[in-house]
Amino acid sequence: MKKQSTGFKVVSSSASWQELETGGGLLKMTGNSEAYRTGNWVPKTLEFVEENCINCGLCWAVCPDDSILLDEKGNMIGVDLDHCKDCGLCVEICPPNKNPDPSKHALRFREEESSDF
Ligand code: SF4
Ligand code: SF4
Repeated sequence: MKKQSTGFKVVSSSASWQELETGGGLLKMTGNSEAYRTGNWVPKTLEFVEENCINCGLCWAVCPDDSILLDEKGNMIGVDLDHCKDCGLCVEICPPNKNPDPSKHALRFREEESSDF
C-alpha cells in the first residue's frame, strides 16, 4: 500500500513560529514524557503488594502512563513511581481490591505526610 503524504512540511523542533507555514508543520521529534520524572509531584504513593496480585494484567492495560512494570514473562513486578500520576485507574480495576479486607488488596495508595511548601 502506498503511504500517503500528510501535506505538512517537516519542521525542526527549534523552529520559531515565524518559520512555520500557514497550518503549521510536522514535528518529527516531539516531547517524550519518559524524560520527565513527575512521580514526586503527586501527593500519594502507590504501593504494590505482590503476594495479593493474581497477575491478571488489568492494571497494565488501563495505565495511561505505562507505569506498570512487567517482567519478561508478563508478570507484574511493580510500579514505576518516577512516572506514576496517581490517577488511580489501576487501583479501581484491580480484582483483589474488590475484597472488603484492605489487607488483601494488591494496589493501594499510601498517603504521604503533607509538606509545608
Ligand atoms: S495510578 Fe495511574 S499512572 Fe499510576 S500506575 Fe496506576 S494507572 Fe498508572
Ligand atoms: S490488576 Fe491487580 S491483580 Fe491484576 S496484575 Fe495488576 S496488581 Fe495484579
